[in-house]
Amino acid sequence: MHAAPIVPEALALPRRAPEADGLRSLIGLARPALVAALVETGVAPEKAPMRADQVWTWIYHRGVRDFAAMSNLGKDLRARLAERFTLERPEVVARQVSEDGTRKYLLRVAGGGEVETVYIPESDRGTLCVSSQIGCTLTCSFCHTGTQRLVRNLTAAEIVGQILVARDDLGDWGRTPVEKRLVSNVVLMGMGEPLYNFDAVRDAMLVAMDGAGLALSRRRITLSTSGVVPEIARVGEEIGCLLAISFHATTDEVRDKLVPINRKWNIAALLDSCRAYPRLSNAERITFEYVMLKGVNDSDADARRLVKLIAGIPAKINLIPFNPWPGAPYERSDPDRIEAFGRIVNRAGYASPVRTPRGEDIMAACGQLKSASERVRRATTAAGYGA
Ligand code: SAH
Ligand code: SF4
Repeated sequence: MHAAPIVPEALALPRRAPEADGLRSLIGLARPALVAALVETGVAPEKAPMRADQVWTWIYHRGVRDFAAMSNLGKDLRARLAERFTLERPEVVARQVSEDGTRKYLLRVAGGGEVETVYIPESDRGTLCVSSQIGCTLTCSFCHTGTQRLVRNLTAAEIVGQILVARDDLGDWGRTPVEKRLVSNVVLMGMGEPLYNFDAVRDAMLVAMDGAGLALSRRRITLSTSGVVPEIARVGEEIGCLLAISFHATTDEVRDKLVPINRKWNIAALLDSCRAYPRLSNAERITFEYVMLKGVNDSDADARRLVKLIAGIPAKINLIPFNPWPGAPYERSDPDRIEAFGRIVNRAGYASPVRTPRGEDIMAACGQLKSASERVRRATTAAGYGA
């Protein structure tokens, strides 16, 4: 790699953590909760839904961070809102920009934990890879995040806040139509297992999809899970976004090692939940992610087993060349092996794009995210999360 040394830059964004002043965040609140918050602030109940729309437009279409700028609200109301609530984003500790334009943000959230968010520009879209937890309780053996102890679940405010931070930094406010936006797609593929933080992820995505909110179509949002089977149907029912499954192996023996949650819900149970996924159709296929690990899961026999296993499921197979991290016990499959694997999958009728690693020079590629949050883990409670 010929990466130039990357110096984390400080950003000209507020450095104070949200809720530092004990104020409640209005970011990420579902519509009914926002209406209730406005009533609490003295807005007449019959006017509250309309005021909620106005506030949302300021927050999510215009990107304002200050109630004073909400010029169609009375001065009094603006002052009362500012006394109670905050629109602060997570604090940007560092930003790194890769040679290929990928940007990685290190964000500090309340309580001192840190998460990473990655922006990946492409010719026809800009994808933001959002984290759902600080760290992850699961321990997939090929994933850097899995080596970090979970500190805690993120709140809906912190999940939506990641999108706001990226749009602030990219100057992405006020662009219409959606196609012109720099952040046009969101993938829940950062740190954490989104289905172990279902309610906050759902609330955040409902704000992201609402026309008065971030107004991203549900088909521009993809949630990736390692296979929390009992929650999978809820993704279709309560969020309605696209689904990706971190599949990675074609026998329970190998998957038990790579994705240990497989010992709880095995391949058969996982595929049953995929077959039953609400909204499944050729237009809304499930993405099966498959990390290519040299000599572990990348043989022709694996490829043939894979297509047999998923027979009948409208699907696309995303082949992810393994991204190394310090001390990782695996190697990336050779390019011709990946190609041969992809050819077998393709001949069986499935699209099998190879995911080009992005942002490798700044450790922003899939599975490379890991923050230093474990430093503070003893000071914070990690109880109650995970399997
Ligand atoms: N926890 C969720 C979402 C985050 S991981 C999940 O596991 O699905 C996003 C994707 O990156 C997953 O498919 C994950 O398996 C994959 N990944 C993890 N570590 C990787 C690595 N080192 N190289 C390539 N892909 C990796
Ligand atoms: Fe957690 Fe996903 Fe990494 Fe597994 S691959 S450790 S579920 S973030």
